Amino acid sequence: EGAERVTGIDDLPIREELRGTSPYGAPQLDVDVHLNTNENPYPLPEPLVERIAERVRAAARGLNRYPDRDAVELRSQLAAYLSRTAGHPVTTSNVWAANGSNEVIQQLLQTFGGPGRTAIGFEPSYSMHGLIARGTGTGWISGPRREDFRIDVDAAARAIAEHRPDVVFITSPNNPTGTAVDADAVLALYEAAQAARPSLVVVDEAYVEFSHRPSLLPLIEGRPHLVVSRTMSKAFGAAGLRLGYLAADPAVVDAVQLVRLPYHLSAITQATALAALEHTDTLLGYVEQLKAERDRLVTELRDLGYEVTDSDANFVQFGRFEGAAGSHEAWQRILDRGILVRDNGVPGWLRVSAGTPAENDAFLDAVRELKKEQS
Ligand code: PMP
Repeated sequence: EGAERVTGIDDLPIREELRGTSPYGAPQLDVDVHLNTNENPYPLPEPLVERIAERVRAAARGLNRYPDRDAVELRSQLAAYLSRTAGHPVTTSNVWAANGSNEVIQQLLQTFGGPGRTAIGFEPSYSMHGLIARGTGTGWISGPRREDFRIDVDAAARAIAEHRPDVVFITSPNNPTGTAVDADAVLALYEAAQAARPSLVVVDEAYVEFSHRPSLLPLIEGRPHLVVSRTMSKAFGAAGLRLGYLAADPAVVDAVQLVRLPYHLSAITQATALAALEHTDTLLGYVEQLKAERDRLVTELRDLGYEVTDSDANFVQFGRFEGAAGSHEAWQRILDRGILVRDNGVPGWLRVSAGTPAENDAFLDAVRELKKEQS
């Protein structure tokens, strides 16, 4: 017998700005095919599972002690990965890690945002940027995006000049649209942000390994207010691990340590992430397969007569349905066929994550039937 529920959230003395809001999260439904949360559909390969078990066993022997608070070995391996793949050398002092890039973003907002400060994103984009802003008491500004979902650099720079935000989010490739941002646009927005405040510019590259274009990481050189955030949740197929990281000037890494909880990364997390990094090449092989499947989804959806936004991510935004009601109805009809995609609240559009070839075939069959019903 637990304690009886005698009150509701609204009767509790919670912060005013949280009243009437709901927790973030996609529906976790019991269906055959999950293509709704941009996960990697491939389970970790068995040799990596064995290596994780080995590393975690060793870590378990030391669990009476707190973990390495600065996660130095892990940060140095992440730096090695970035140096090898992102076209720019970085060292341990450039890299910081936390429990998912969501926590990286939270630490950045705790450090550079907070009460009396604001952050801007160009929407539709990753809605957690605004929600983490709210959670940290940072004011949120919804900046503009073009009809075709690319960033309108002039309009974005004007919004930065007008609002003078403390933190600017640029998501590339963008979620939920799949749209990548080029280096010139980032540089223009960085200049606008420095002229206005100066503010911190966060480039969220959660999906960059799936992009047709190179990482924007080299831009951190000589730009101490530019941060690139990354995750092992997508390309490394390790969403359950909870490991995100950033690369920036060492001063930014020093600054986030002012707000991080001591020992925030457990010894188990550090051991598991290190094991996964030993298998980078195998995991990046899956990324190549997923990129091919992503491109196939784009092509086949267009062949079926859908509108599709060019995608540099491991998901595809497709439509166009009749407004919010139309996309919701389409979402439901696809779900009725056992396939869960995502309605991100962009009226007229849905998002599907690239799955295994069989999952993508099942999805394409479902939308083929939907198209027949609706024409
Ligand atoms: N950034 C973007 C753009 C995302 O889409 C996501 C996950 N959906 C994240 C960050 C957070 O991922 P995680 O906390 O798993 O690293």
